Amino acid sequence: MRAGFIAIVGAPNVGKSTFLNEVLGFKLAITSDKPQTTRHRLLGVYNEPGLQAIFLDTPGLHQARRALNQRMVDTALAALQDVDAVLFMVEASHKGMTQGEEVARILEGTDKPAVLALNKIDLLPDKAALLPYLDKVASWASWTAYVPISALTGDGATLVLKELKALLPESNPLFPEDVITDLSERFLVSELIREKVFRLTGQEVPYSSAVTIDQFLEPGDESRPIAISATIHVERDSQKGIIIGKRGAMIKRIGTEARQDMETLLGHPVFLELFVRVEPKWSRSQKGLTKLGY
Ligand code: GDP
Ligand code: MG
Repeated sequence: MRAGFIAIVGAPNVGKSTFLNEVLGFKLAITSDKPQTTRHRLLGVYNEPGLQAIFLDTPGLHQARRALNQRMVDTALAALQDVDAVLFMVEASHKGMTQGEEVARILEGTDKPAVLALNKIDLLPDKAALLPYLDKVASWASWTAYVPISALTGDGATLVLKELKALLPESNPLFPEDVITDLSERFLVSELIREKVFRLTGQEVPYSSAVTIDQFLEPGDESRPIAISATIHVERDSQKGIIIGKRGAMIKRIGTEARQDMETLLGHPVFLELFVRVEPKWSRSQKGLTKLGY
């Protein structure tokens, strides 16, 4: 029996969170086609006979300018300290190679054994297209293995798990078998709302948005819905206008889609009420970050 901690790290948008969800068979981490969707360290526990892999999904490593981005990068780097092994992810593409080489340098400072996953191989025309990438990633660091994968289809995931298992210490499980995460339902619910903002709005709006849960009321009577009130915080009036949308169309859509995901997560009907507030420049100050849960 082996058990231990694995940090999933890499540039933004390479598919780290998608991979974690695929392995867990559960939507723990929100995902979108926009970079920097993940802002926290997310713990997810994968169990199979003889293995407990405790994954830490992390924000993408990037050049940070705002206080929020610096916090995100610090969170990802801190996760590296706490683990037995690293899963380093890059996109199997030309862009992925440039990005990956830069980010891989960060790992030079750590002594953790690392498996490299080349993700999104479903987008390649054929297997031969991988060959130049394999050569390239091999020159960055001494990976214990490199594995082509598709987080979207699950291709290669079993092999990644096998390679990671070899890097974990012999140990009894560190979490009870029925525990998937240490994250609260309240947090997961707030993330589902943030996901819809990331997926449904454009430009700078997702990056200026944060979600807080004002009320999470479980009914005494099982036949009634769980009542959740949440606030979407943005930084400017114009962003508030975009979140609300024409005659409230956008906020309605965010609410409907988030509520459906919440009902799947909680296994219970949900009544969701959303508010929008302007919190000027929250993403640029320590005070703003603390206030909104970062
Ligand atoms: P993260 O920022 O590294 O956590 O990346 P996400 O998991 O949020 O994924 C970023 C985007 O890449 C999303 O639109 C995913 O659907 C997409 N994606 C992730 N893995 C794959 C993959 O294997 N193939 C393809 N085609 N898209 C993927
Ligand atoms: Mg992510």
